[in-house]
This record gives sequence, C-alpha cells and structure tokens, in this order.
Amino acid sequence: MTSVTTTCRDLAELLTAAQTACRLLFQECYKAGIKNIFITETYRSQERQKYLYAQGRTRPGQIVTWTLDSNHKSRLAWDIAVGPPQSLYDVTILNKVGAIAKKLGIEWGGTWTNAIDRPHFEVKSNWVMPKGYKLEGQVIVPSNSKMKVQLIVEDKKEEVKVTNWNPGSPAMKT
Ligand SMILES: [Zn+2]
Repeated sequence: MTSVTTTCRDLAELLTAAQTACRLLFQECYKAGIKNIFITETYRSQERQKYLYAQGRTRPGQIVTWTLDSNHKSRLAWDIAVGPPQSLYDVTILNKVGAIAKKLGIEWGGTWTNAIDRPHFEVKSNWVMPKGYKLEGQVIVPSNSKMKVQLIVEDKKEEVKVTNWNPGSPAMKT
C-alpha cells in the first residue's frame, strides 16, 4: 500500500494489455531513435487521484488534474517525460512519441482538445497489438532520466556457439 504522495512508476502495476502497449511504444520509439524518454507514473490509486484533484482546489498549489476519473486508476494509463539533453516535457519529442502511439492504437493525451496532456498515454483494456508489430526482444522501459530505452535482442546463433565451445560448463548455459 503506497501513500497518496508516492508516485508509482512500476510498469508491472498496469494491466497486461497496457504493459504490452507501453513496451511496444518504447520499442518503436527506440527504433525511431528516441531513447531518452522514461516513465513518470503508471498506476494511481483513487486516493491519490483525489489527493491530486484537491491540489489547487481545497489544497494550496496549482491545479494538476482536471478529473477524478483517471485511467491511471484503471491500470491502463502511463505518463512519460523526456530526459537530457531535452527539457522534461519537450514538445517536439512528445509529439513524435504521440505520432508513434497513434500508429499503435494507443490513445495520446496530446490529442485531447479540452485538456491537452502530452505526457499521457492510455489504452482500452481490450487493446491488441496491431498487425505487423511484435516485441522484438526485451524492451527496457526506463523509470528515470538517467536511463536510456533499450531493446535487447538475443542472438540465438551466438548462444549455440557458446554452448558448443563449453559443453560441460553449466555456467555457460544461459
Ligand atoms: Zn496521465
């Protein structure tokens, strides 16, 4: 149980469809040369949503949300930011990520005309990967600005070679 002031950046807290969509988005961004994006929030409890909603209304501060009914609490939404050398909410980068999201059937907050929310992405619980796409390896989705997006593709041929060189060594069986 996390407190209302704690931000959850754990991808595993989202529903499976959203986890896969998020990984695919980061993979396609990586392939497009965008490697300095990272997750800033995934799951948000109703209590935290209420807490954020109160900011600028019944609690001091600037308004940070316009809704009590966020898809973060449905475990279907995630927010991102941009790492160095760009600024945290670099519009050019976020627009590029938004364009990639659109191709993948992921809804982007940057298209919301009432309350534009460029760092925000979400899917429906029945989201499926569009035809022609797949996760091509292990996608490393950063949760801080110091990490970079990575796509780790196993080289199967290399693995076999290594096993042949060291047939008796259990340490080499990866
Ligand atoms: Zn959001």
